[in-house]
Amino acid sequence: MTDTATRVTYGYDNSRRRALPDAVAFPADAEEVAALVAACHAAQIPVVARGMGTATTGAAVPVDGGLARTTKASIGYDLTRLIVGSEGTLALVTEATLKLTPLPAATATLQATYDGVDAAARAVAAVMAGPITPSKLEFMDAAALALVRDHAGAKLPVGAGAMLLIECDGDAERAVADLDAVAARARVTGCIALERATTEEETRQLWQCRRALSPAQRKLKPHKINEDVAVPVSQLPALVNGVAALAAAHQLVVVSFGHAGNGNLHVNVLGDAEDSAELARMHACVSDLFDVVLRLGGTLSGEHGIGYDKRAFITREVDPVAIELMRAIKRQFDPAGILNPNKLFPANAD
Ligand SMILES: Cc1cc2nc3c(=O)[nH]c(=O)nc-3n(C[C@H](O)[C@H](O)[C@H](O)COP(=O)(O)OP(=O)(O)OC[C@H]3O[C@@H](n4cnc5c(N)ncnc54)[C@H](O)[C@@H]3O)c2cc1C
Repeated sequence: MTDTATRVTYGYDNSRRRALPDAVAFPADAEEVAALVAACHAAQIPVVARGMGTATTGAAVPVDGGLARTTKASIGYDLTRLIVGSEGTLALVTEATLKLTPLPAATATLQATYDGVDAAARAVAAVMAGPITPSKLEFMDAAALALVRDHAGAKLPVGAGAMLLIECDGDAERAVADLDAVAARARVTGCIALERATTEEETRQLWQCRRALSPAQRKLKPHKINEDVAVPVSQLPALVNGVAALAAAHQLVVVSFGHAGNGNLHVNVLGDAEDSAELARMHACVSDLFDVVLRLGGTLSGEHGIGYDKRAFITREVDPVAIELMRAIKRQFDPAGILNPNKLFPANAD
């Protein structure tokens, strides 16, 4: 389809970056996908694969125009793992075989509140150093707690400066016993309250806090740069303290929360992008954040990938030899360079 309304609809993702594809195709099966890619290859037209368009990095935005559209092996190289996470730069996936994990019979949930981010981060490190790994371990900093208190009606213990939401699962007895063990480790200096959910409704209320966070941020500032850095869990205290220092240095509101059990933190730099001075401070803050993360042995992205927005930074983490190896792999898959061009690699490397 080439009408403007359809092209606009498929021209953005959750990065809020926009670009117009020249056309949008809805191939019905793998054969149609193959025919489309062959035609685009022959005509040197970029192809940007697209799922729901919720990527936060501009990965699904057709920055060079072109065509937008909406997969097990035990021998040889693991090509499945190569393609998963390749952000549509190597191949178009037309079929996926998924392994389903049964839902647990029971869960046990704990809200642990701390006087500040340092204590909460030390608790995460202590929990993850123990023998029981919780199924969920979510972190929220003071700015995140203020948001859910002021905009989502959450009732928080007095003096709350950071919070962990912790869940263990299994059969009913196992879930509770595991949570007991985890709670003992979470009770570090600076812990001001440990509150268990005893009913389904209480569990729902505890998680409601966390779910309200992302949308609530827009009530503070109109724009956010959403990073999802990750560091070794032992370095989480250094990361959260580093983020607090950056927020102060750049005079910005920074809201941090995320899946702290694997060292992954969503760092949201809030601001008004219409204010050029504030926007410049937001970008400087993100750049400094990446330096802090890499100094701590971490990575620029735990989940969201590089996409368009972070490609300028990838060389800070990946050395030139590895970048060239990746480019050589891309050339093998995509000799004409039509698959999601100008994503993932630094600007001069396409
Ligand atoms: C509110 C919110 C919460 C989120 N929370 C999490 C989270 O907890 N954990 C997490 O990991 N992520 C999270 N994300 C980000 C998440 O990874 C992406 O939003 C989502 O997985 C991307 O799926 P999509 O179908 O929207 O892909 P799109 O945004 O459409 O595309 C993403 C990338 O995949 C490529 N692609 C799409 N389809 C194909 C295909 N068929 N073949 C080859 N390449 C293809 C695209 O070209 C693009 O590079 C969150 C995002 C939002 C908005």
